[in-house]
Amino acid sequence: MVTAGRLSYRRYRIEIRPAPDLVRLPPRFRVEVKKHRLIGLVLEELVRYRGDLPVVLSRPCVYGVFSRPIGGLAPKEELCVGCLRCTVQYPDVVQIYPNPERERLGDSYLKPAHVDTLLYEARTGHVPVRGAGYRGPFGGAGWDGMWTDMSEIVRPTRDGIHGREFISTAVDIGEKPALLAFDERGEPVGTVPKVITIQVPFLFDRPPRSARPRLLLEILVRAAQEIETLAMVPVDLVVRFDLAGPHVVPVVEEETWRWLVQLAWSPRMIAIEGWDRERLAELERRFPESILCARVPMDSDVLDLVRQGARVLHLTADYHGRRNGRFVMDLIRQAHQRLVDAGVREEVTLIGSGGIVMAEHVPKAIICGLDAVALDTALWVALQARFAGECRNPETALVSFPRLEPAWGIQRLKNLAASWRDQLLEVLGAMGLREVRRLRGELGRCMFQAELEREAFAEVDGYRADA
Ligand code: SF4
Repeated sequence: MVTAGRLSYRRYRIEIRPAPDLVRLPPRFRVEVKKHRLIGLVLEELVRYRGDLPVVLSRPCVYGVFSRPIGGLAPKEELCVGCLRCTVQYPDVVQIYPNPERERLGDSYLKPAHVDTLLYEARTGHVPVRGAGYRGPFGGAGWDGMWTDMSEIVRPTRDGIHGREFISTAVDIGEKPALLAFDERGEPVGTVPKVITIQVPFLFDRPPRSARPRLLLEILVRAAQEIETLAMVPVDLVVRFDLAGPHVVPVVEEETWRWLVQLAWSPRMIAIEGWDRERLAELERRFPESILCARVPMDSDVLDLVRQGARVLHLTADYHGRRNGRFVMDLIRQAHQRLVDAGVREEVTLIGSGGIVMAEHVPKAIICGLDAVALDTALWVALQARFAGECRNPETALVSFPRLEPAWGIQRLKNLAASWRDQLLEVLGAMGLREVRRLRGELGRCMFQAELEREAFAEVDGYRADA
């Protein structure tokens, strides 16, 4: 990254540091020991092995679940990894069950396994790697129906994640006219490019209505500043909590419009809820330096909005990635393709939010056609938020946070961002791409399960595309 005004170069990186969970998670497994049978077993072995205590008291678990002095009478459930070694050897004495309390983490979209992964990323800042290999399905609904093609033969940037060669994850948000015009003195006339460059292709969306305490917003803003991205904050809270700064994007709604008069500084970007040409024109008059972004539903006619003057659009879906029954993956492709067909895609920035809860969803959404994504539920889970019921609708979702500590919260978000960026670098490196900007709309780099199945099975009797 070149620092403005000075000829200095700083390679972008996010500082990671361990940030342990504030709240202890329920263990993944319940270890149920039949105590009377265990005592009986120990007595029987005492006799059989003639009092050879090291043999009699040896434990069947290498993970230390039975490592207390009283062993299986008080198992350390938090250490159990569910390998079933103990129950295979002693089925009458011990049984392992999934912990129902753990199964209640997250909701029907952001599943307990996602929560586990997010917490690991936020705790450590590392890429989750499982030594036992991937044990899940290789296809499915939503983002799981899309596979990235990492089989590029020539890989000039393979080492990007290790820092030997730099891969840029910076993206530009703003207005980018197709042509520049100059007057006879060589000065540009008409529309000139107006962009903000953020160092990662994700920004922070505003929290749901039920959870907007000052501390949370301060954490989001400070973390955005340190990561060199943007945080969207309702304009009334920007004013009330004095959250001014270049990394803050005030979001204006119908009912908070009046708070704008109290905004005593000029944000780099302002977002407005819905499409309203008059209000956008007024914003442009009041804040001529600011980039204006319209937040519209993801199934909107983007081409029509662009023809009316929109240049930065934030396409929104619910937290489960749905809008009117359709999933974001299809909606993003549709919006992007419409602008490509009309020859205006390069002039427009598309941000999208909803249903992006795992690191791999970021490159997938960009391949489908977004310039950047706005993160929501994943950020809150990183801060150990709990959902009450389904966390789907931003207006009604109930999200509660533990007692937050600012330094801890900022580090958790930095760790999450670093882990997600490293995973993005893995994708880019494996594809031989030197920058994430070139990933946008690169549909040749991916495969869709539904399309492959259609190709393979369309001729087979009984094949149903929706099955
Ligand atoms: S299932 Fe595996 S990890 Fe869990 S207690 Fe049994 S042996 Fe230990």
